[in-house]
Amino acid sequence: MAGTKNNHNEQGSDQNQNTKLPFEDADETMCDADVADDITSADYYFDSYSHFGNKKTFIFEASLIEMLKDVVRTKSYRDVIYKNKFLVKDKIVLDVGAGTGILSLFCAKAGAAHVYAVECSQMADTAKEIVKSNGFSDVITVLKGKIEEIELPVPKVDVIISEWMGYFLVYENMLDTVLYARNKWLVDGGIVLPDKASLYLTAIEDAHYKEDKVEFWNDVYGFDMSCIKRRAITEPLVDTVDGNQIVTDSKLLKTMDISKMASEDASFTSPFKLVAKRNDHIHALVAYFDVSFTMCHKMIGFSTGPKSRATHWKQTVLYLDDVLTVCEGEMITGSMTIAPNKKNPRDVDIKLSYSLNGQHCKISRTQLYKMR
Ligand code: SAH
Repeated sequence: MAGTKNNHNEQGSDQNQNTKLPFEDADETMCDADVADDITSADYYFDSYSHFGNKKTFIFEASLIEMLKDVVRTKSYRDVIYKNKFLVKDKIVLDVGAGTGILSLFCAKAGAAHVYAVECSQMADTAKEIVKSNGFSDVITVLKGKIEEIELPVPKVDVIISEWMGYFLVYENMLDTVLYARNKWLVDGGIVLPDKASLYLTAIEDAHYKEDKVEFWNDVYGFDMSCIKRRAITEPLVDTVDGNQIVTDSKLLKTMDISKMASEDASFTSPFKLVAKRNDHIHALVAYFDVSFTMCHKMIGFSTGPKSRATHWKQTVLYLDDVLTVCEGEMITGSMTIAPNKKNPRDVDIKLSYSLNGQHCKISRTQLYKMR
């Protein structure tokens, strides 16, 4: 999995004390339906969301609680629905990856005609129970299975709602599942919630953690373990960055329109120019995203940026091979290429090129990273 570490700072709430969600090394897409009873690996993507009554219970609980307790995330969805009931009232809604069914419950409570809650993990059974105990069994139908494999009892839906975003926005590649559902079932003129997602880049001073995570390997009790250093650098780190560490401005890399985009649009190259706001040393670039629900009466959205309230997505830190010494006003130019890994589309390959032609530092380099 992409690396995690303790927080750079104490800004986060309890949720940030957790390690990253355990979506480890999924070699293929698997739902519970595919998983043999005696399976021992915790490495399957969908497995990480469920499994009661065995050793994975704690993993399930950690990720479930982490997501639900992420109030920025969950309250944003709730506000979208409750403050904009017109979006779902008397509508047929499809909840893609329903988990506990929380988004379906919001929609049902706001007056949806019917909600189809599709969830491929064992959690679908729990969602059924939750739906029943809250008295919504006649409005919400939980369907257990993969979106790509299930049959919906209706030909079209008016609204698709999903919380599909992964670390670095696209890690885990659940976006494809939402686009699949949109192409197959969304009625002409139907809406997708959320409908916009944007990825941003900035640069930070991070000497302390780079030393701890990367340079550490140069001399381990007198031995050279720098071969591990390479790996430490190529794996982006999911962590909370302190706003004070930010040295440059932030640049938008890409906005995706979930209601229109094609699956291929999630692979892209974006140029960037980051301008230093002070004299400092730069150790890493940091990516984060925001999402918005533009169909609301008054637009609602949230950001996972270092200056916003912490979320379970934290930020994604990409350490640089070099330390860039920048003077205020100098510019780091470059480009970032992002694409799902060809062998395992849930992994993300990142190519980062950057140049600085500054007073104290002249550098031009390309680095490859992999989120897995
Ligand atoms: N909607 C819930 C859960 C979000 S996590 C909430 O907001 O709290 C995403 C969920 O999507 C997980 O439970 C995962 O098992 C499910 N999921 C991922 N890919 C899926 C697919 N292809 N078909 C059905 N469910 C999927």
